[in-house]
Amino acid sequence: MPLDHTHDPQARSWLAAAQAEGCDFPLQNLPFAVLRRRGSSEAFRGAVAIGDQALDLAALATTGAVTGAARAALRLAAEPTLNGFMAAGPAVWRGLRRALFGLLREGAPFEAAVRACLIPLDAVEYQLPAQIGDYTDFYTSLDHAQNCIRILLPQGEVTPNFRWLPQAYHGRASTVGVSGQRFARPLGQRLPPGASAPVFAPCAAMDYECELGWWVGPGNAAGEPIAIAQAEEHLFGACLLNDWSARDLQAWEMAPLGPFHAKNFATTVSPWIVTLDALEPFRTAWTRPAEHPQPLPYLELGAQRARGAFDIRVEVWLHSAQAQQAGRGPVRLSGTSFRHQYWSPAQMLAHHTAGGCSMHAGDLLGSGTISGPGPGEAGALIELAHGGQQPVDLGHGEQRGFLQDGDTVILRGWCEAPGAVRIGLGECRGTVLPARA
Ligand code: CA
Repeated sequence: MPLDHTHDPQARSWLAAAQAEGCDFPLQNLPFAVLRRRGSSEAFRGAVAIGDQALDLAALATTGAVTGAARAALRLAAEPTLNGFMAAGPAVWRGLRRALFGLLREGAPFEAAVRACLIPLDAVEYQLPAQIGDYTDFYTSLDHAQNCIRILLPQGEVTPNFRWLPQAYHGRASTVGVSGQRFARPLGQRLPPGASAPVFAPCAAMDYECELGWWVGPGNAAGEPIAIAQAEEHLFGACLLNDWSARDLQAWEMAPLGPFHAKNFATTVSPWIVTLDALEPFRTAWTRPAEHPQPLPYLELGAQRARGAFDIRVEVWLHSAQAQQAGRGPVRLSGTSFRHQYWSPAQMLAHHTAGGCSMHAGDLLGSGTISGPGPGEAGALIELAHGGQQPVDLGHGEQRGFLQDGDTVILRGWCEAPGAVRIGLGECRGTVLPARA
């Protein structure tokens, strides 16, 4: 889509907090989530973030502020899950974005009625934004792949197929949770160093993976692939995603079929989904070094070359139990940009469906760990701490080779570009609890 008035950097909201320095949710963002007042027994419903508030779309639907075609879109987006809205496609998403922008803009009509539909963000609790039918996690950062290979197999190389196709494994939708997720350290099989038989025990090498989650829109019927040229019409938007990883279980079980126990106990997503329309000013060229294999035709598109990547900044922070008890804040572990990823979201979706696999509204695609080329740009602790051999210093006498019980990992994401208003993805936090007895 071209930029339109909803990207105008001069546009302001009548809600002053939307213009606050560093605000994730200015008027130009308008991300979607599903929430209710915290501690209430209210029904969950769709909402849009503005400044430090959530605009309750179910409440808004009871007013006369939204009319015409956007009113049907509003009803879909107000439901207890966003699946129906996601299935409706870009024209419907865009229509509601423009209607809400018009209502929240300075000087808009119905300000009092719309203001009555706001709930402070610090007074809400979230639910997963959609019922996830299927969850697939990709592996699309060449820097992450190379870092991991160097740690696990010093003489090893990234397998040749990495440069030809977006690799992925099928994850579990059943244990995807929304930010705030707390989960027990998993038990599983691992092979102790030098042992000839595995033990069944709590994971001793807990890790996180900083990723984006891409939510699928309309989707496709089985046997009818989504072409690369149409792929973005089937992507509703992005959130932050933490693909928690039990490295010791993974090392033992992964050959030859891939991650299983190592990944299936928990995956955490941020509650707010930033739409592709909101991300439009932060697109950038998707490039492939000339000496690397170039994509096969079904993964190649001029428009992808020009603007298929997204400059979405991500950061990982760790808040240890000790720091929380001492009243200290979290420690920043790393930061990079999603623009370094070897494959674009459109290529991931086109490849996913190319063999005939069907996708449905609310399906979730993990981007794969986002690691950049420089030091301090790694999206997993295994890379930062070199497989646990060079623990990361947290200060105050704390170090981490892998995560400890009580650790809270916080992912943050935002976009900045010249001529655009900064937008954010909010945060994704999750906490490792002790293994069950
Ligand atoms: Ca992953």
